[in-house]
Amino acid sequence: MYPSRFRYEAPRSLDEAIGLMHDGGDYVKVLAGGQSLVPLMKLRFASPELVVDINNVPGLDYHRADPDGTLRIGALCRHADLERSGLLKTTQPTMAAAAPLIADPIVRNRGTLVGSLCHADPQGDWASVVTALGGSVVAQGPAGRRTIPLAGFVTGPFETVLAPDEIAVEAVIPAAQGTRSGGYLKLERRVGDFATVGVAVAVETSGGTVTRAGIGLTGVGGSTIAATEAAQALTGQPLSAESIGRAADLAAAAARPRTDHRGSAEYKRHMVRTFVVRILGRDVPEERAA
Ligand SMILES: Cc1cc2nc3c(=O)[nH]c(=O)nc-3n(C[C@H](O)[C@H](O)[C@H](O)COP(=O)(O)OP(=O)(O)OC[C@H]3O[C@@H](n4cnc5c(N)ncnc54)[C@H](O)[C@@H]3O)c2cc1C
Repeated sequence: MYPSRFRYEAPRSLDEAIGLMHDGGDYVKVLAGGQSLVPLMKLRFASPELVVDINNVPGLDYHRADPDGTLRIGALCRHADLERSGLLKTTQPTMAAAAPLIADPIVRNRGTLVGSLCHADPQGDWASVVTALGGSVVAQGPAGRRTIPLAGFVTGPFETVLAPDEIAVEAVIPAAQGTRSGGYLKLERRVGDFATVGVAVAVETSGGTVTRAGIGLTGVGGSTIAATEAAQALTGQPLSAESIGRAADLAAAAARPRTDHRGSAEYKRHMVRTFVVRILGRDVPEERAA
């Protein structure tokens, strides 16, 4: 099916893009990788009047660390850039584990992490990862920039707090306060599929004690779930079989899965528990793993 008629603009600066969004009428959409927006337009689930393609805006394709370790991912940084990133491999285990699991190589070549956060699909993998890492989104509009923690960015399935004339310019992952570990595991029916269940775990340890932990769940609720109590069960102590088991139980309890053609709610909840144990179990010394 062809999309409905729409106006297309390809500005060459962020200010121009924001100006177009501001003056653009009732229904304006940013086009980044197009891997979610274009299919939706072709199915006529989305029929914007104006599409503002930001791919000609220079200087948005970065991902880099500030001197203090804060990671910044620009709005045109592709999934494939993150999959190939040496920086992520050495400093961001949860992100490095997730990047190769997003869709397939064709989608990864165009799609962006920031676009995925803005799309707010409950089955989007990056939102759980950024949630687990305590990340945020920087949005720019006519009134300037604001930083929005991801916990308050997504308001529901396919809904965010972005104003119609705001563009998300980057995602920000705070610097680790200790040694970072964790991972991302995803249950998919076949390679390249959306998650039946996805679990992101990010842990920071200092002197053997967990100083910060985050757990994000994909595909098991109306939107990405921050399993806050589960993460809290890990902090202030060394990782052990006991603390991991408690966190896994709490993460499974936080999940709100529905029975569908991909599996029963009970099975999905079980997989949440299994993934938490599997990710964290790798970091437990043998004497505490029993
Ligand atoms: C076959 C297929 C399989 C897929 N499998 C997966 C998967 O397994 N896991 C997964 O997480 N995703 C998957 N996706 C989605 C993919 O990751 C998309 O790339 C991602 O959801 C959106 O990123 P994008 O850059 O392509 O955004 P676009 O499609 O360009 O935009 C998506 C939405 O976000 C808005 N938007 C984008 N960027 C901005 C911005 N900077 N500021 C404001 N609004 C913005 C757009 O207006 C639009 O509403 C799949 C897609 C396809 C086609």
